[in-house]
Amino acid sequence: MKKYILTGMIALMGTALFISCGPSERKETADDEFTYEVDRFEDISVLKYRLPAFDQLTAGEKEFIYYLSEAALCGRDILWDQNFKYNLLIRKTIEAIIDTYGGDRESDEYRAFITYAKRVFFANGIHHHYSNDKFVPGFSEDYFAQLVSGSDVARLPLAGDQTVDELTSFLTPILFDPVLYAKKVDQTEGTDMITSSANNFYEGVTQAEVEEYYASIADPSDPRPVSWGLNSKVTKIDGKVTEIPWKSGGMYGPAIERIVLWLEKARDAALSETQKEELGLLIDYYRTADLGTWDDYNVMWAGNTGLSVDYINGFIETYGDPMGMKATWEAVVQYKDTEASKRTALITENAQWFEDHSPVDPQYRKEKVTGVAASVINVAMLGGDCYPASPLGINLPNSNWIRAEAGSKSVTLANITDAKDIVARGSGFMEEFAFDRAEIDRAVTYGSLSDALHTDMHECIGHASGKLAPGTDPNALKNYASPLEEMRADLFALYFMMDPKMAEIGLVPSDEPAKAQYDNYIRNGFLTQIVRIQPGKDIEQAHMRCRSAIAHWVYEKGKAENVIEVVKRDGKTFVRVNDYEKLRGLFGEMLKEVQRIKSEGDFAAGKEMIENYGVKIDQELHAEILARYAKLNLAPYSGFVNPMMITITDRNGRVKDVQIEYCSDYLGQMMEYGKKYSFLQAW
Ligand code: ZN
Repeated sequence: MKKYILTGMIALMGTALFISCGPSERKETADDEFTYEVDRFEDISVLKYRLPAFDQLTAGEKEFIYYLSEAALCGRDILWDQNFKYNLLIRKTIEAIIDTYGGDRESDEYRAFITYAKRVFFANGIHHHYSNDKFVPGFSEDYFAQLVSGSDVARLPLAGDQTVDELTSFLTPILFDPVLYAKKVDQTEGTDMITSSANNFYEGVTQAEVEEYYASIADPSDPRPVSWGLNSKVTKIDGKVTEIPWKSGGMYGPAIERIVLWLEKARDAALSETQKEELGLLIDYYRTADLGTWDDYNVMWAGNTGLSVDYINGFIETYGDPMGMKATWEAVVQYKDTEASKRTALITENAQWFEDHSPVDPQYRKEKVTGVAASVINVAMLGGDCYPASPLGINLPNSNWIRAEAGSKSVTLANITDAKDIVARGSGFMEEFAFDRAEIDRAVTYGSLSDALHTDMHECIGHASGKLAPGTDPNALKNYASPLEEMRADLFALYFMMDPKMAEIGLVPSDEPAKAQYDNYIRNGFLTQIVRIQPGKDIEQAHMRCRSAIAHWVYEKGKAENVIEVVKRDGKTFVRVNDYEKLRGLFGEMLKEVQRIKSEGDFAAGKEMIENYGVKIDQELHAEILARYAKLNLAPYSGFVNPMMITITDRNGRVKDVQIEYCSDYLGQMMEYGKKYSFLQAW
């Protein structure tokens, strides 16, 4: 006998329960009914993503996906706390207000509060997810006090015998003072990046103390170093610099234990023996925080290729740490897009050819490019630092020696990319910023292929290429490491996109996709990406610094030959590529230099390249671009709500089938996650 158990995200054995994603949830299945955008506020557009052919997966694959999806959602609180130590306190206060506030919910101030709440949910905290700057509420301090005092006191996250007024007074400056905790990540040259950053990776220690601490434990001659500092907070105990590891029974223990619980179910449902073993290692690592076990896990995970369902779950990316050591928690659950994966397979099969023909100094090429496994996947669930703002491509693991010895896995997130592309079409953006009709037509015809290829090549062969000189400290580039690494991958993709090899192996019909990418890249790096930056601010984010540095460097180097031209027309600035072949040559030259910088750990040259070309914005141009962009009424950032998984279980509680429903209520999903996946204390 089958028992039908419907749940949102948690399988409650033996209980029939339906959990919607919120009051305005509606189901959408037919193609023509599918509306991607579900919410819009400030600079954010929230979309939903489809799960193509999910129903064609086997019961076993769906069950596995479901357990991994639960594990992906259970670490949400960890990221909030990593981003800033009072984020959970703030979120719980906001949730209490939304659920219980007894006052007028139709007023402008209440609407401003809801907008603020949506922004905080989107950013997993009070700092902008992309710029890392704190955003301040669009309502008054008095109104905040009114909201808190008008809510159910039992729901407020009060500390011990704290009064409601005391909570309000504590939170008010944190929310409203623009100077206090102003930046989540501060990489401004010359500042103590640790004390000036508001993230929660370090407390009561200076940059110098942290550098000294890690220098004392890391052995630079170790050919297989663990990822020092990846999974711990650094603070002082009795005046001594100490690491507090994130693990079961330790910091973030209650959330990690829930992740482990679901990973254990996933392990039992794994699709192969090696995948089972790999999940066992991940569980051990969460229990011990042992970085050696983390490396063992990654070696195994990198080797487990070709599976129809795969995942990312752990402390992975270090963009949130100005020192580039501590990783934010993230998770993705994914299944393979078989057709599109043939394209990445072609790139991967030729990885060695690309490496051998790369313009970098031969001593910094890899003699043997190992197992750059690439696939095109569809996302089934996003968690932690991949939710709601999702990447479009991911290449892991990050450890240099594991990449060299065991290879890496690279994925392009097809359904996420598709949702963004469909929404972007017809937005008027190209008509405003492209130089001429030919450029627009080329983008319309080849844009999708060209973007997909660029992402694939960036991930599959770009990041995987090159090697360090013997004895180079992998952390030598410090705060410039991330943008330089992105440049390396982008330049590798840009350089080879126009290589005759591409047509020869059947990836492109002609040079046109490469030209579309060159137009797009230069336009974006020079002009359009700065719509994401506030007037007067510098570029901070690694990928943006990368694109700006590349566009400005090749512009300057090609100036004498007019390779790229800046054209003024009716008071509007455009960029135009005059010579694609020469531009390709410049990409190659720059790739050679960036690889040299990485291989030799040349901090001074890396710094100079980023600071000179990647950080500053021409103020006059910025104002012009912002004004043109504002007229289009678009949101510069997008993110996603997750689907809901409805499980059907047998009498023993085993998941027999999973059905997908699409959520169209962004705030509803956030509130639901706050109830179901909150395992850490506010204080
Ligand atoms: Zn990258």
